[in-house]
Amino acid sequence: MTLPARARGARTAGFILAGALIVLSCASDERPFLLPPGAANPSPTTTEATTTTQFVPPTTEDPGDPLGLISPTGVVVPVLEAGEGGYRVGTPCLAETTLVFGTPLYRTDVVLDPGHGGPVETGAVGPNGLAEKDLNLRLAKATARLLEDRGISVALTRTTDYRLPLRARALIADTLQAEALISIHHNAPILSDSDIPGSEVFYQVQNPESARLGGLIQEEVLAALSQFEDVSWVSARDAGVVAVLKPDGTESYGMIRNPESTAVLAELGYLANPSEAELFATDEYIEVASAALADAAQRFLETDQSGVAVNEVNRRFVPTGGTGGTDNCEDPPLE
Ligand SMILES: [Zn+2]
Repeated sequence: MTLPARARGARTAGFILAGALIVLSCASDERPFLLPPGAANPSPTTTEATTTTQFVPPTTEDPGDPLGLISPTGVVVPVLEAGEGGYRVGTPCLAETTLVFGTPLYRTDVVLDPGHGGPVETGAVGPNGLAEKDLNLRLAKATARLLEDRGISVALTRTTDYRLPLRARALIADTLQAEALISIHHNAPILSDSDIPGSEVFYQVQNPESARLGGLIQEEVLAALSQFEDVSWVSARDAGVVAVLKPDGTESYGMIRNPESTAVLAELGYLANPSEAELFATDEYIEVASAALADAAQRFLETDQSGVAVNEVNRRFVPTGGTGGTDNCEDPPLE
């Protein structure tokens, strides 16, 4: 698939709630779709595509063609091409289809990627039954709400429980021209006992901005989780801001290798560890961890701070295939 070669000058900021969507003359518009009043990205966390009949005059500034859409069923899709009858979009399973209706997304500061999804790719599962895919999504949505409140534009790669291959996640971030792509995960299996949380962030070894984003996330997340007492943490010996490379020196992880955007993958803690799994199921954890991620993202966008330094020694890992591909991928309904 080719990326749309459009760069929009105006950076979007702030949010319009999905309840305020307006249908603009579908009969006469050559590209009918749902437009929000103004050019701001709508919240992907409140995707109920409610239409109203209230008339709102067109904005004076034409925001141009959207870079992505939130489909009427709430699925985020990259726009590949604007056509006469609608928008050619990439589906989650990396097929192409045409959407006539959707909520437009424009250039986006932060794309949050809740790891895993769908009936098969659950990710880790805690001894308390908490599935990583659900925990990642809950934390991503809470983080998105905080960023919206701060006037930072944000989109999620995955908005409910469906399969989303790694290349599709990268394509969404790249198409929305994200400044930062943060993939959210919780780790397994259990490693050595530790006095401090075993949080780790994987970064793009060739990209200093990825190292900076990773350093800020690691600093904020470690400080935030350390507030919780009575948790028996576990950790890898080389936890930190880590590059994970194959023996040939290339990136091991698809979520780090595939995006052209500045990307990191954060493993906030160990869901396989009973003590941490108990914590991760609480509202307090979501509140504290989402604030840490939002603070890190905001510092990344608004300062040149770099947080925790990256590990001097890179980790070696040879991927064995596994999940994240398009084999047997079934798209969720888009409309
Ligand atoms: Zn994961």
